[in-house]
Amino acid sequence: MERLQKLLAQAGIASRRKCEELILEGRVQVNGETVTTLGVKADPAADVITVNGKPIRHESKLYLMLHKPKGVITSASDDKGRKVVKDYLPGIKERVYPVGRLDYDTEGLLLLTNDGEFANLLTHPRHHVAKTYMATVKGVPHGSALEQLQIGIMLDDGMTAPAEVEYQDVDPDNKKSTIRITIYEGRNRQVRRMFEAIGHPVTLLKRVKFGELTLQGLARGKYRHLKPQEVKELQ
Ligand code: URA
Repeated sequence: MERLQKLLAQAGIASRRKCEELILEGRVQVNGETVTTLGVKADPAADVITVNGKPIRHESKLYLMLHKPKGVITSASDDKGRKVVKDYLPGIKERVYPVGRLDYDTEGLLLLTNDGEFANLLTHPRHHVAKTYMATVKGVPHGSALEQLQIGIMLDDGMTAPAEVEYQDVDPDNKKSTIRITIYEGRNRQVRRMFEAIGHPVTLLKRVKFGELTLQGLARGKYRHLKPQEVKELQ
């Protein structure tokens, strides 16, 4: 049994707050009875829940993790005919949404779900889930440059929150290095912009960790379902 507003929000009707309003306005029915108070619980498997007389769809919740390859768009379709993440989810008929985005050229761990609330929660600016990337950059940044990233650096859209940064591989002969960086925000192209700001543009970017999740055992281009415990730990 779950609270009605939560079930409505999970079914994609609206935000939980808006669903509370719908209930208070008398637009929601459970087994034909109009509910006008908050706090009523229902069982989506056994009760018929309707909004304005129309049954809500209840899909089971899907939580997926994809090892996104480079050269794939994080969106449902692309008008230029490029590969999209959906192409890598054979057998998934439900409409799932990415939790945040990875750039076309970025590979790595991408979550997808049909649970709108879960996606909103994880992408909310106040939800500081750790995201770790391996960034191969041009040149070898000085320790002082990396320190700037650790403290916070000014970008077009403001200061970044402190990041954790460490050298992974330094290759001065080939004028490149790989840095492991963990950020707690999710702005557009943030990692690339952070390294650009210190004068070391990213040439390869891979997200290797999201919260406690890693890509271990998941080949490039493959996906798996998250375990219930993994979903819980992210919330
Ligand atoms: N930061 C970036 O610059 N690109 C991504 O895809 C993810 C984080």
